[in-house]
Amino acid sequence: MSKFWSDIVHKLTPYVPGEQPKLDNLVKLNTNENPYGPSPKVINALKLEAADSLRLYPDPNSDALKAAIANTHNLNASQVFVGNGSDEVLAHVFQALLKHSRPLLFPDITYSFYPVYCGLYDIEYQTIPLATDFTINVDDYDEPNGGIIFPNPNAPTGIPLALVEIEKLLKKNTQSVVVIDEAYVDFGTESAVRLINTYPNLLVIHTLSKARSLAGLRVGYALGAPELIEALIRVKDSFNSYPIDRFASAGAVAAMQDVEYFETTCRKIIATRTALIKDLTQLGFDVLPSGANFIFAKHTSKDGAELTAALREKNIIVRHFKSPSRIAPYVRITIGTDVQSQTLIKALSELL
Ligand SMILES: *Cc1c(COP(=O)(O)O)cnc(C)c1O
Repeated sequence: MSKFWSDIVHKLTPYVPGEQPKLDNLVKLNTNENPYGPSPKVINALKLEAADSLRLYPDPNSDALKAAIANTHNLNASQVFVGNGSDEVLAHVFQALLKHSRPLLFPDITYSFYPVYCGLYDIEYQTIPLATDFTINVDDYDEPNGGIIFPNPNAPTGIPLALVEIEKLLKKNTQSVVVIDEAYVDFGTESAVRLINTYPNLLVIHTLSKARSLAGLRVGYALGAPELIEALIRVKDSFNSYPIDRFASAGAVAAMQDVEYFETTCRKIIATRTALIKDLTQLGFDVLPSGANFIFAKHTSKDGAELTAALREKNIIVRHFKSPSRIAPYVRITIGTDVQSQTLIKALSELL
């Protein structure tokens, strides 16, 4: 607290990201990063970018990157908005499209950055409880609102929602924007991108941090009708007109173009997930269905906090959420390599 702070700063409750410890030889399964490095083509593109041209500002419109993204998704560049990680894209979405006189709706258990942005931009919100099995029931969102947002698959549960359910919501909720945050969609969840040309009220958010192994580069994007994209560009150009630097642009373009590398690593992670769920179930874990590169699991004999602390002693980090109390028994485990899974299973067999 300080007399120099603005009123809004006094009231903020900032987001707390998962730990990034400065220690080697940890099995780091806490922040849903990809266990595989980016495509070699990305590394090559970054090397080429380390040149005299860095003295020049990057392209303020990120045309090359927008073209690569539009091409990936069979859309037009006017349907693409890019930012410094999807967290920045989301920040602009909250200000440009979700700040209205009626409350924003999102699940009670979801990505914890959403209420933080509501605090920053002074947006009223209402949380909608997940069903007892932690699924989203779209009928629960049938009330006056200034927008609806949730991740698909949801975080931190990992549970995917079928596309027919999202379409049902889009058909009912035509007076405000429905934002689907698809940070983890490439790990086996149906994407809503194919609905974009049909529904002007749909905005889909993607990131290069998870499936494309580029969390360190900070690139994310939004896909939607040109009218929605224009609102985001207006906010961006009132904030920072050069958000994507030359490295981020070059690396992201190469990552979008290397489809084969992307598909291979996603397939490997899905296979590791299937094997890990089987092993955890044998150890007595109850694992929620996952369409993501992480799983949400609980054990009958040890609660989430105890398990997280005990694994930490063995140099394995997973993520635990204290609240709401409904999810306190669970731990969220990022899918790593097969070797990391084996290390985890060995540690758990000793603990339980
Ligand atoms: C990881 C994540 C993001 C943020 O991704 P960045 O592009 O790294 O900012 C957004 N939404 C959800 C649900 C996430 O899990």
